[in-house]
Amino acid sequence: MAQPSLSKSDPINIVGAGVFGLSTAIHLAQRGYTGVTVFDKHAYDDSQYSYFKGADAASADINKIIRSAYGGVSIYQDLTLEAIEGWKRWNKDLASGVVRPPGMSRNDRVFINNGNLIMTDGDELPDFDQATVTSMENAGHHDTQLVTTDARHRQVAHAKGLGFAIDAFRREQRGKSNVAVLDTTGGTALAGKACRFALHKARTLGVRCILHPETGAVDSLAHSPQNPRKVIGIKTRDGKAHLAALTIVACGGWTPALLPQLDGLCEATAGSVAMIKVPRTSPLWDRFAPENFPSWVWKMRDGAEGGLYGFARDEDGWLKIGYRGTKYTNPITQPDGVERSVPATRWSPTTLNGRQLTAIPQQAEKVIRRFMAENMPELVEEGLDIVKTRICWYNDSFDNHLVIDFVPETAGLMVATAGCGHAFKYFPVIGKYVVDIVEGKELSRPCIKAWRWRTLEKGAVPANVLMEGSKGARSLLNTQLVWDEEVQGPSVRARL
Ligand SMILES: Cc1cc2nc3c(=O)[nH]c(=O)nc-3n(C[C@H](O)[C@H](O)[C@H](O)COP(=O)(O)OP(=O)(O)OC[C@H]3O[C@@H](n4cnc5c(N)ncnc54)[C@H](O)[C@@H]3O)c2cc1C
Repeated sequence: MAQPSLSKSDPINIVGAGVFGLSTAIHLAQRGYTGVTVFDKHAYDDSQYSYFKGADAASADINKIIRSAYGGVSIYQDLTLEAIEGWKRWNKDLASGVVRPPGMSRNDRVFINNGNLIMTDGDELPDFDQATVTSMENAGHHDTQLVTTDARHRQVAHAKGLGFAIDAFRREQRGKSNVAVLDTTGGTALAGKACRFALHKARTLGVRCILHPETGAVDSLAHSPQNPRKVIGIKTRDGKAHLAALTIVACGGWTPALLPQLDGLCEATAGSVAMIKVPRTSPLWDRFAPENFPSWVWKMRDGAEGGLYGFARDEDGWLKIGYRGTKYTNPITQPDGVERSVPATRWSPTTLNGRQLTAIPQQAEKVIRRFMAENMPELVEEGLDIVKTRICWYNDSFDNHLVIDFVPETAGLMVATAGCGHAFKYFPVIGKYVVDIVEGKELSRPCIKAWRWRTLEKGAVPANVLMEGSKGARSLLNTQLVWDEEVQGPSVRARL
């Protein structure tokens, strides 16, 4: 389906200034659409996409993993390889000064090609990782996926300047197994900086951006008085209506609450993040520098006892470890009587049992600490511990595919969402696909088909079980939480 009557000068509303919204805005503008406005409830010009300054969207983060390793799932493998070219172009635009976002300089980068180490604690490579190696080789990307137990691959890693990543946690020195795949195409996206870059780029291309808790916050969709199945724009919190020929909702974890039609297709789920601060004076400053340390994932397909990922320290010393082994929810009864999971963070007005959510689940803390004890003993030796935690909201689909499509039986309304845990890496290019769908171009491409509006077939087993509600075991209400003041170890508490 396309939006046949759309002309290049028609007003288009995009709700959400995260990866999906900004990328769509850029690609619409580059294709000649002149009436694009991005609305967001968060004042990004003030916070500069910093979580520490109140930005709690998934896209507003220190860093995200870029990896083309996808276990042979070619649509995302190909999309990532295309996106990596985009990331390199964005780095070049910064270095040459062609794009100069406020507060950023020619020395800033948005992508660091420091590799992504995909680890297991077993003695054999899991089938998924083996499939990645085979699939990339078959696709002609020779020696991009390097197995740490293969002597030739280790040499290749050194030749590529990524030798440091082969045994990033020095497990071999400690007599432990080191079975992993090093994805040399990937590494780290500097997330907040990339958002600032994209916002600035969108503006220079003529996109209007209204980023404000009143004037940018969309309270509801505006329907045609003559035809309730036609969306004619949006209503913002300040009471204003903004009419548009097309409205694209790209609100990440907030999308299902705004668009209840997504029930059963998408749900907001929480991941847990722990942050350790490495002082500039510490010997670990260099040890964990992005020039010496890759991004990594650990036991990503091992359920509640696995699902970790992490990064080199950033320029301020933040060393971040995330837990995704359990996908938590925050079900809240909505005005229509249905319980839907709604993002709650330390910065949101939504509270958990009347308390701001400055906590992470105990299970997340346990798995993170166990990993740190086994793989990062130097942190303990240096007296470094977790000093900050964050709950970060994904929008998951039942099959882990994105959802980019027109909303069925509703004219003038599209959705671009369900990034699950993997859409940040597509930032430079995903908007191109959204615009293709707007224009009805090459809709038979496998990725576009995978992203269509869909329902779970009867009897099919979903990758993610959705909408278990407040009685579900993954509801934060039923989860033991560890609050910020408790998560900080005694040595940290003494120093704060
Ligand atoms: C903890 C975590 C780790 C991740 N790690 C990775 C990774 O390593 N690699 C990777 O590729 N991907 C990763 N992802 C996934 C990636 O971050 C997301 O898929 C992507 O950022 C989602 O972008 P988005 O635009 O859909 O949503 P968001 O970034 O959440 O943006 C949605 C925007 O909509 C705005 N909004 C919401 N409601 C309204 C409203 N009513 N009115 C106006 N504005 C509104 C919000 O303020 C927000 O700015 C991770 C996600 C999380 C949560």
